[in-house]
This record gives sequence, C-alpha cells and structure tokens, in this order.
Amino acid sequence: MHHQIRVLQWGLGAMGSGMAKLALQKEGLRIVAAVDARPDYVSKDLGEVLKLDRQLGVTVTDQPETVLDKNKVDVVVIATTSWTEKQMPDLRKILKAGINVVSIAEEMSDPAAQSPELAKELDQLAKENGVSIIGTGVNPGFVLDLLVVLLTAGCHSIERIEASRVNDLSPYGPTVMETQGVGTTPEQFRSGVADGSIVGHVGFPESIRLISEALGLGVDRIEESREPIVSKVHRETPHVVVEPGMVAGCAHIGVGYHGDKEVIRLIHPQQIHPQLEDQSTGDYIHIYGVPEIHMAITPEIAGGIATMGIAVNCIPRVFEATPGLKRMIDIPVPGALMGHSAYSRRV
Ligand code: NAD
Repeated sequence: MHHQIRVLQWGLGAMGSGMAKLALQKEGLRIVAAVDARPDYVSKDLGEVLKLDRQLGVTVTDQPETVLDKNKVDVVVIATTSWTEKQMPDLRKILKAGINVVSIAEEMSDPAAQSPELAKELDQLAKENGVSIIGTGVNPGFVLDLLVVLLTAGCHSIERIEASRVNDLSPYGPTVMETQGVGTTPEQFRSGVADGSIVGHVGFPESIRLISEALGLGVDRIEESREPIVSKVHRETPHVVVEPGMVAGCAHIGVGYHGDKEVIRLIHPQQIHPQLEDQSTGDYIHIYGVPEIHMAITPEIAGGIATMGIAVNCIPRVFEATPGLKRMIDIPVPGALMGHSAYSRRV
C-alpha cells in the first residue's frame, strides 16, 4: 500500500474491540488512536485492552479532544450507542475536527427517520468541514435494507417486498435481554412495550426508508408492532431463565405503506434458543415483482461478526466519499477489504 488510512476507534465494547482487531489485520488501515470512557481501559495500551500479546503504541483515552487531529486521523469508527441524539455531542466534535465517521448506531443508518433536524445538522457539519459520515451495521445497514435493494437490481417492477431475519439472542448480555423483554411474563412484556423499556429491534423505520428511497416505492407511512414470543418449553442462558408461558423474545414487525397499499414488510423475531421449538434461524428476502425472487441464507448472517466487518469495510468508502451525510445506498457497493484494489474505488 502506498499509504494507509489512519483510524481512531471510539468505543471498545463488544463491537468496537472486534473492529479494532479486524482493522489491525488490514494492510490498508492503521489504528492510530482509541477512545473509551471505561476507567479500567483509560491510559492502558490498546494491545492490553484488546487482550493481545503485544503493545500497539496506542494509549486509550477518555479525552477525545486530545486525539481528534485531522493531521493524524482520517476516519473515526464509533461504536458507543444505538441512538443518534445520544451520539450527537461526540459526532459534532469529530466532524468539527474535520474527520470522517463510520457509526454503527442503528439510528445513524438513516438519521432522518427519527430526526430530520439532526440529519440536516450532520450533513451541514460534514460539508462545512469537507468530510463524510455514514451509519452502518449488519441490521440496519445491510441484511434488511442494502441486501434487499441489491436483490432488486435486475427487476423490471416491484409489487411488494417481504424480508425477515430470524436469529438467536442466546449469546447476548443482560442489556439485550431487557430491551427485548426476554424472561418477562406476557403482561410485563406488554407494559414494557407501552412504557418504552422493551424496544425490540432498533432500525425498522431506517431500513424501510432506505429501501423505499432507493427504489422509489413512495412509502409515506410506517407502522411497527411488537409481540411477545411466548415459550412452550424451558429455555435458559447464563443471563436469563425462561419457563413455559414466559417470554423468550420479541417478534417485531415493521410495515411501510404507500397510501393504503403495503409495499414493504420487515420481520425480525428475536429470541433465545429458537431451536428448542424447532425454529431454525436465517435471513429470508422475498421480492414480489418481475421477476419474483426468493433468497434464503441459513443460518442467518452472524450479526456481531458482520457488524464488525461492514464497519471496517466501509472505512475506505467513507474516506473517499464526497462530503456530507451518507447512507448505505449512497456509496459504491461495499465488500471485504482483501487487497490493494479494494481501498480506492472513487467514483
Ligand atoms: P458495548 O456496550 O459492548 O460497548 C460500548 C462501549 O462504548 C463501552 O466500552 C463503553 O464504555 C463505550 N462508550 C459508550 N459511550 C461512550 C462515549 N460517549 N465515549 C466513549 N466511550 C463510550 O456495546 P456494543 O455491543 O459494542 O454495541 C455498541 C452499539 O452498537 C450498541 O448500541 C449496539 O446496539 C449497536 N450495534 C448496532 C448494530 C447494527 O447493525 N447497526 C450491530 C451491533 C451493535
């Protein structure tokens, strides 16, 4: 490589630490700085925080101002939260420093879905500072939006799209169990949905907008529903126990309408140990149009691995993009970074 893209990894949790390890393996990328608020990480060498057997010469800091220097950093990859509004103070700092951003916050895959004002501010800040910012991840960002769009590339017309991602939540920690309502009673589940403590999947409005806009389906209304997946059997993980009659997960559906007509239906039932009730996991996309297309990926694309991958694989894409807020439908097709030609695909 003639020159490497210099990367700052912000957030070293489950996703961020995996991204940092992946970026270290890429010839065209170099990790030059790392930010995390965790006191037990601060002032340590990144190699130690990532549990590698070598020092990397990068000290983790909780003072981003000390490392946000556009002469030293080309792209920040940020993996701290799901919400645009919560990430805004950090995103403002990065963009004002004149540095490109890849975020995996679910809402950042199309920030205008929740807040047109914040989307406009991000776009303006990026343009004023000559950089670009994108939100990505396995979903939203890939399986139930970009992949759907790509599958229609040869279609003459589209009547309706239905896509589902059936996955297993068993590997995840307590936060995911709580936000999906795993281990609650059906009554607790319903009150949790009502008071907003059980959210299900974050990303349906974003994914539906991405598909609608890329294809011109004219979605003007989005409805979401969250139903408890009530278990018939005993299910258990290190973090939660579900007895028969209790909730093993959340069946979350998002539907996009054009007028009265349903044009996009996205389905994401997330539960622990689906195999205990003979539910196999997978990603399924059905395009009803000309031609009709049915795609099944079984088991589902591994969520954590693919999120780390797509975030890292988008680094060169955001580095070379024109200034502004970008979405996955706005950049050249992303792919694995396996060699020299993958790093510059400027269009
Ligand atoms: P995590 O809780 O394991 O890690 C988050 C890390 O960020 C922690 O180390 C924490 O100390 C740090 N942090 C939080 N706020 C910070 C701040 N303002 N400044 C510095 N450090 C901060 O979470 P995770 O599993 O790595 O996931 C991160 C986020 O990405 C979650 O919100 C998750 O929902 C989202 N995510 C999105 C997708 C997608 O498909 N788009 C996929 C996976 C995860």
